[in-house]
Amino acid sequence: MKPVFKTPEWMLAALEARRQQDLMRHTVTLQSPQVPHIHIKGQPFTAFCSNDYLGLANHPLIVKAMQESAAQHGVGGGSSHLVCGHLSPHQALEEALADWLGYERVLLFSTGYMANLGVISALAGKQRPVVQDKLNHASLIDGAMLAQAPLRRYLHADVASAEKRLMKSDSSGLLATDGVFSMDGDIAPLAALSALAARYDWTLMVDDAHGLGCLGALGRGSTALAGLEAQQVPVLVGTFGKAFGTAGAFVATSHDYADYLTQFARPYVYTTSMSPAIAGATLASLALIQSNEGQERRERLIQHIAYFRQRVSGLPVTLMASETAIQPIVLGDTHSALRVSAALKALGILCTAIRPPTVPADSARLRITLSAAHSLSDLVLLCDALERVLTQR
Ligand SMILES: *Cc1c(COP(=O)(O)O)cnc(C)c1O
Repeated sequence: MKPVFKTPEWMLAALEARRQQDLMRHTVTLQSPQVPHIHIKGQPFTAFCSNDYLGLANHPLIVKAMQESAAQHGVGGGSSHLVCGHLSPHQALEEALADWLGYERVLLFSTGYMANLGVISALAGKQRPVVQDKLNHASLIDGAMLAQAPLRRYLHADVASAEKRLMKSDSSGLLATDGVFSMDGDIAPLAALSALAARYDWTLMVDDAHGLGCLGALGRGSTALAGLEAQQVPVLVGTFGKAFGTAGAFVATSHDYADYLTQFARPYVYTTSMSPAIAGATLASLALIQSNEGQERRERLIQHIAYFRQRVSGLPVTLMASETAIQPIVLGDTHSALRVSAALKALGILCTAIRPPTVPADSARLRITLSAAHSLSDLVLLCDALERVLTQR
């Protein structure tokens, strides 16, 4: 198709390079809600690649809570939190999250990406370095760049390597890690990192996007699972787009940190508050996560993980050391990952191949994610298909 205006040469070159390397990405449209049995172009698939770990994205109670909150508080926040966009569902959600996690204060953000940009850009700076795990989510890396802070990365989940980075720094700063690593599914050595941060007088920040809701007592996440409390993890970021099944994010911290972030975290200050309807839905989601139903969902997820790992352990691939809903199968080169993904698709299974630069070079993978919304027969279908596809390579 002839473009309506001229495409610059540099753009054509960048697109062509992505195509040549099999790295071109595009969206596919789901004709159904985010549920295990989806439809794409009229065709049914069983999906194993969403982050809806507890199956709440389309839960009737949460849909209803959103409708009620919209009816009572409207759809739009209408302004930033600091001007006049902080409505009662926002306040109620902040307080409920602080209670749940045992922190003095919580601040809401529109997305997890923005929460990390906001927190890191405010807490780090030219004199306050950031030390991060090599496999941290892109938003933590970008936060350090926005802060113009010295950024040093340590070997994945390697506390000795982190210590070397702290030792080499002239001043103390922020030690930041994912709680559960988004592309590998393993859990950071949080107790050791918190002891390390305390020893060097650094501030530990944990982004628990994939742990909150799923891990620990009452779904309090990877820090709770590690037995850590607020004083050991002064800055805890969580997101609502994963296990909560809604959208948005938060930081849990102390009064002083929250006051400071309220002044200086630009992605908090200069943006419209999250929709009050979403805040109401997220409150319902939090209640569900803490309820018996939440516990049952976490237990079902654990059963699915155990079944999956048991079945795949017999196949000619290496399982990663993951106890979480994220169960990647690393295939190496991009071509293999695309081929296996396509073969699964032909068997009615959707699992998008994850390629560089989202993951390191030569570690393209199927990032299989399991959900409490899956049934055991969904799992059987997946494992049978993997067996066929992976033993016929
Ligand atoms: C998904 C994710 C984010 C971003 O959260 P959004 O709300 O989707 O912007 C941040 N950190 C980690 C570790 C994530 O996996």
